[in-house]
Amino acid sequence: MKSMLKWIGWASIAVFLLAACGNDKSGAGAGAKGDGPLKVVTSFTIIEDLAREIGGDDVEIHNLVPTGTDPHEYEPLPEDIKKATDADVLFYNGLNLEGGKSGWFFKMVDSVGQKEENIFSLTERVEPMYLSSEDGKEEEINPHAFIDPNVGIKMAEDMRDAFMKIDPDRKQNYEKRGNDYIDRLKKIESEYEKKLGDISEENRILVTSERAFQYLAKHYGLKEAYIWAIDTEENGSPSQIKSLVQFLKDHPVPVLFVESNVDTRPMETVSKESGVPIYEKPIYSDEIGKPGDEVDTYIKYLKYNIDIMYDGLSK
Ligand SMILES: [Zn+2]
Repeated sequence: MKSMLKWIGWASIAVFLLAACGNDKSGAGAGAKGDGPLKVVTSFTIIEDLAREIGGDDVEIHNLVPTGTDPHEYEPLPEDIKKATDADVLFYNGLNLEGGKSGWFFKMVDSVGQKEENIFSLTERVEPMYLSSEDGKEEEINPHAFIDPNVGIKMAEDMRDAFMKIDPDRKQNYEKRGNDYIDRLKKIESEYEKKLGDISEENRILVTSERAFQYLAKHYGLKEAYIWAIDTEENGSPSQIKSLVQFLKDHPVPVLFVESNVDTRPMETVSKESGVPIYEKPIYSDEIGKPGDEVDTYIKYLKYNIDIMYDGLSK
């Protein structure tokens, strides 16, 4: 009921904004963006950073889910709704990161009447992986594909192509910046290949709070262990903790990792009960840091994560 009322609230704000904007968007077709920057809306911090890199001076970005906020469940603010209404292009992760077709992102873009051709998922070419339930039945899609640099490359390619399509007048700029950026991602990917390949057989286990590293683990042949499958479920129940502690008895690992955006207490309990230390720095999963933080770009995020995984697991 509460969320229904919230919806009525958003919808009326959207109607008001649409009325206030009049019909100034009606003439905007391909190539008719004018001289001003392209108005871009991104769903969360990693996509915001890709848009900054590939869009450069040609774009003006409004990001929705900020650092420190859960992208799985979000309540758009009036400012978000206004920016989504005016946007020339909107990018989202997909794979249910934003709650899927019935989640917060689509409710918002539908309520503001955005055209489907302006909205781009960046994981159309990614094979979804599933978070399976206890009985092994496939259920929820794991949204965290971007942790794997191979996916990051695909996302950057798709964003470059989307910009070129939406804003053909400045096509060459997007192409140049996009290709340069993709080259940088490819260099980092080869570092993943090399460093993760160097970790010994018995240490090839990545332990985190949320099961966010599934795509990365599969690509590089690591085992994963975690406390909870996804942030939207119960985080750190006694039975979740017990089962990870049991796993660690059978699979001794050098370190446990804790993500930058989760409650550290469940993993602290696991560490105490298993005797396995927690790595001294957080690992990044659902977000990059705020501007000026150590990990404030996707490139730094990828580099940072490979460095700490290698350091922690190659002991
Ligand atoms: Zn997550």
